[in-house]
Amino acid sequence: MLKVTFPHIGNSYIPFRTLLMELGVEPVIPPPITQRTISLGTQIAPEFACFPLKINLGNYIETMEKGAEMILMAGGVGPCRFGYYGEVQREILQDAGYEIDFLVLEAPKTHPRELWEKIKRIFPCHQPHDLIRALRKAWIKADLLDQFDRLANHVRARELKRGQVSQLQARFYHQLDQAVLLDEIQRVARQFMEELKDVPTRKDEQPLRVRLVGEIYMVLEPNVNFHIERVLGEMGVDVERTIYFTDWVKDTLLKSIYDPNWRAQMLAVARPYLKNFVGGHGLETVAHTVEAGVNRYDGVIQLAPFTCMPEIVAMQALPAVSQDLDIPYLTLIIDEHAAEAGIMTRLEAFIDLLSYQRNSRGGGKTREVVSGY
Ligand code: SF4
Repeated sequence: MLKVTFPHIGNSYIPFRTLLMELGVEPVIPPPITQRTISLGTQIAPEFACFPLKINLGNYIETMEKGAEMILMAGGVGPCRFGYYGEVQREILQDAGYEIDFLVLEAPKTHPRELWEKIKRIFPCHQPHDLIRALRKAWIKADLLDQFDRLANHVRARELKRGQVSQLQARFYHQLDQAVLLDEIQRVARQFMEELKDVPTRKDEQPLRVRLVGEIYMVLEPNVNFHIERVLGEMGVDVERTIYFTDWVKDTLLKSIYDPNWRAQMLAVARPYLKNFVGGHGLETVAHTVEAGVNRYDGVIQLAPFTCMPEIVAMQALPAVSQDLDIPYLTLIIDEHAAEAGIMTRLEAFIDLLSYQRNSRGGGKTREVVSGY
């Protein structure tokens, strides 16, 4: 059976495992990202390549060590470098002496026939009913993960016993990953959602509300963003992540097929500060920060990989958004040199500042910031 791998990004390995198994190939799950992954990637990548590209390369080397024979990678078009990722990564690996097949999947609207030919060639179970079953199961898992994570961030900010939500989340991921049949998947999700709703919480607080914006990889991959959602949540901050895997699929892959103006609303929101789509999530970063200001969030945190063009463009707009709408923001630029202590110090200082601002405005009671990470 063909052994297929893919880049590690957040919890998406759970639906990807299901998808590949249902399509009749053997998934090789990339191990969680560690310093070794980063160092393997940075050794063979150009210094100024995007940080996610370097991490992907490290993932591939680690999965080749586990026997992977083919890499499945999303492709794309647009102003940022993501569209070239597949080809560039293939050449970098080749130059470094690694031989492996690449399957770059473009959005269906670009070359639908080519996409279909690739699917038929690679996947033994490629009849329409196989594809529908595989996609449906994977989608249900992805959607349940996103629903759980949304609620988990909300509850974590209020939990009485620090760490309880994170432990529950880890158990949920594990059991959902193991579930094969549809009713088993639904049962696991129901059980964990109920447990999450039953986590004892503080009722007398109004936690700080912070939006997490930025480049998709940095936002979704906890081992790269220093587990920012967990860390902030356990400081008593209600984190609203603005990027979810299923939203990205719905918007970037699907909505863009039938609605060429699907970004119109986002452009209208960002318009005073940014007038064009700039690739990646740069436009979203600005628009979501504007919305955060209008809706009186306490702050915004932008996560950007070093050398990320769309996020660099967004960074130029954020000071004006922040000043006009009185919304504090913090930009964290992350690369292979980022150190946990430095990131935590900046986060704690930012949250302290937001608490101070909330209290001086006479807003609701917040939890005293818990440090020590
Ligand atoms: S969004 Fe940024 S990090 Fe991602 S590929 Fe584009 S330039 Fe690179």
